[in-house]
Parts: sequence; C-alpha cells; structure tokens
Amino acid sequence: MSTTMENVICKFCGCLCDDIIVEVEDNRILKTKRACSNGRGMFLDYDPSFQKPLIDGKQVEWDEAVSVCADILNKADSPLIYGLSSTSTEAQRKAVELADLLGAVIDSTSSVCHFPTVLAFQRTGEVTCTLGEVKNRADLLIFWGCNPMVSHIRHFTRYSAKAKGTLTPGGRKDRTIVVVDVRETPSSKTADMFLQIDSGTDYEVLTTLRALVQEKELEPGAGHIVSEELKELARMMKTCNYGVVFFGMGLTMTSGRSYNVSELFTLAAELNRFNRFSVMPMRGHGNVAGADNVLTWLSGYPSAVSFARGFPQIGPGEFTSVDMLARHEADAALIIASDPMAHFPHGAVEHLRHIPFILMAPMTNCSTKTAKVFLPTACCGIDVPGTAYRMDNVPLRLRAVLASEKPTDEEILSRIIKEVIK
Ligand code: SF4
Repeated sequence: MSTTMENVICKFCGCLCDDIIVEVEDNRILKTKRACSNGRGMFLDYDPSFQKPLIDGKQVEWDEAVSVCADILNKADSPLIYGLSSTSTEAQRKAVELADLLGAVIDSTSSVCHFPTVLAFQRTGEVTCTLGEVKNRADLLIFWGCNPMVSHIRHFTRYSAKAKGTLTPGGRKDRTIVVVDVRETPSSKTADMFLQIDSGTDYEVLTTLRALVQEKELEPGAGHIVSEELKELARMMKTCNYGVVFFGMGLTMTSGRSYNVSELFTLAAELNRFNRFSVMPMRGHGNVAGADNVLTWLSGYPSAVSFARGFPQIGPGEFTSVDMLARHEADAALIIASDPMAHFPHGAVEHLRHIPFILMAPMTNCSTKTAKVFLPTACCGIDVPGTAYRMDNVPLRLRAVLASEKPTDEEILSRIIKEVIK
C-alpha cells in the first residue's frame, strides 16, 4: 500500500519548494506532484539500494571504511575537502571541524558559481530581502545573466514573475519583467523587456546604469555603453515601487566577476534613495547557500578556506579546488555530495585520478569508479531530515520520506573525526 506525504521540500535547487507531494510504496518513491522536471527527476531517480561502502570497488563494513578514510586523510600533507552544497547544514559544520583538525583546505561548489557574489558581499555589502517579499511586493523584476525557466523552473510561479502576492494580486499583470543577457533564452522570451548586451560588458553596462540613475553627464569613450533601452531601464528602476535583481553565473563568471557583482550591489543600494530595491543571487544547488553560511560562521570566509597554518585563510585562485587540483597541490581529497569527475576541467580531473580520494554520496555517480573509498550515506531530504538554506538564506528543515538505516553524512564525518584524533 502506498502512502502520500505532503509539504515535502525539494532540495534540488535553491528554490527549496516546500509544497511537494510524494507518494511512497515499498520504500520507493512512486510519484510526485507539483515538483518541476528537475525536482521530479531527483525524487524518482533516487535509488536507496546502495548500503555498503566500497574500497577499491569491493564491499566493506562501515568500520573498515571509516578507518581507511581517517588513515588517508591523516597521512596526507595537503588534504582537500570539497562539495558540501547538497548535504545538510549539520554535516557542513562537521566538515569544517574535520578541515580544522586536519589543517586541510575546505571549499564548496560555490567556488565555481557564486563565490564572486560572496566576495562582493563582503566588500560592498548587499541589500537583500526574502522570496516572500518578492512575491508579495516586487513590481519590477530584473533577471541578469540567468535563465530560471530552465535552471529554477518554479521560481517564476512560486516566487517571482507570475506569483500572486499581497500587493501584486494580479501576478504577472502587476509586474514588469526585464531580462539582461548575452543571448535570447526561454526566460527572455517571456520578458517585457529583453536587454541584449555584448558578452563581457556587464561591468560597463552596470556603471552606465549607475550614472544614468544619478543623472550624471556621460562622456563618450569613457567606458559607458548608452542606449535608449538602458535609459528606459534606468527610468523603470527609479520609478517602480519595489525592484529586485536576480542574477546568475552570466554575471558572476564572466570577465569582471566579483567587480560586476559589487557594481550591481552598489547600484541596488543607490536605488534605495528612490524606492525599495534588492538583489538576490540565483543559487543553484539546494544547500549551497548553507555551505557559504556555515563556512562563514565558523571561519569568517565563505569558500576556498585553508586551515594549513592553524588558522583560517581565504585564497580565491589559491585554495579553490579546481586550481589546487590543476596545480597538483592536494595529495588526498574528501568529496562530499558532489561529482567532480563529471564537472571539473580536465587538469583537475586528471590529478584526482592520481590521488586517493573519498566520495561521500547517497548514490553512485561519475566519480565513484575513480574514488578509493565510496561512502553511500543517507540522502538528506529523502532518507533523513536535515537543514538547508534557501537562496534567500532562509533555513528550512528538510523531511525524510523513506525509512532508512543508512548513516548520515554528519554521523560518518563525526566517526572520521574520532578516528583522526585517535
Ligand atoms: Fe525542486 Fe527547484 Fe524545481 Fe522547486 S524549482 S521543484 S526546488 S528543482
């Protein structure tokens, strides 16, 4: 007989939709309602059958696997801990504790997406809000370098473009939508204004917008890119009631990186002279915002943190995983809830093949075969509960939908910590 669970949270992306209905039979997820195709895939493709750890592809007991992991990490001169964005906040805390103990580098998937955002946030400050405010108040929404129709499929309907809120009861009719991007996307096709900019000119466009908002004289040839559309966008930004800019890797990972984001944050702060204006990064993985928060509470820095000298140091480009691996600077790695063999560039992947690395993940992925040790821990949000931070930094409690006896990431990390200090 099947059971139906309501108000389940989908942790696939930073929207953390909390209204999903999940039908379970014989401890397998049969059906979901309300989840988008990305979320549905995560629930329906989940295979809880991986129960035992593997060392060099052979099944072993948990005690042996934990002991081998501690040995690998203890013997390393320069261990790297990477991933974190799809595990719980509780496990993220333990990972930082382990990094501190080992004198390791710890880095999350932020380092390949919104790391520039957090650097800009620490440099400039950030005017922000919750998704609830967006839904209930925002009448101008700008999506810059992101494509939520593909990456965050329910964002428009639950929180932004089409959502009906207290001061926006007409939903889409009560909002103006602008997309800024280098090419047409499914999201730009739904917008009231699509501002197509040249690749790599985000900083100049933002600087021009700041000048237009302040009604400054613009000198030709001073790096300003002035167009009638940009003047209209500046006017819309100044005259709306409540504006929000959502931005993605089209802004953070193009030339200028954290300086692009700083310029956007400054623009949003300056617009608060005229109305209420906020910014929000479109966070990808379900708990990548949690990884930034936890690392920052505990070390002062959001990502790429080294404990090698006995105190935390940040090093973008120095302690970011891809760079460390490509320079052959890590001699062992612990990968938590991530799949670097599928996503990292060639140089980093090649080095991972030559060092002992431990993969902690609920199911096999492209990194499993290369890993020295595979630890099939419980999936938070499916097997076990746990905390995750939504893209607006609101923490939510994920629920378990299956009955599971698998150990959690937090438990296994605690056991590794005990072995390491033995
Ligand atoms: Fe899950 Fe994101 Fe889709 Fe919501 S939008 S159902 S959180 S994948």
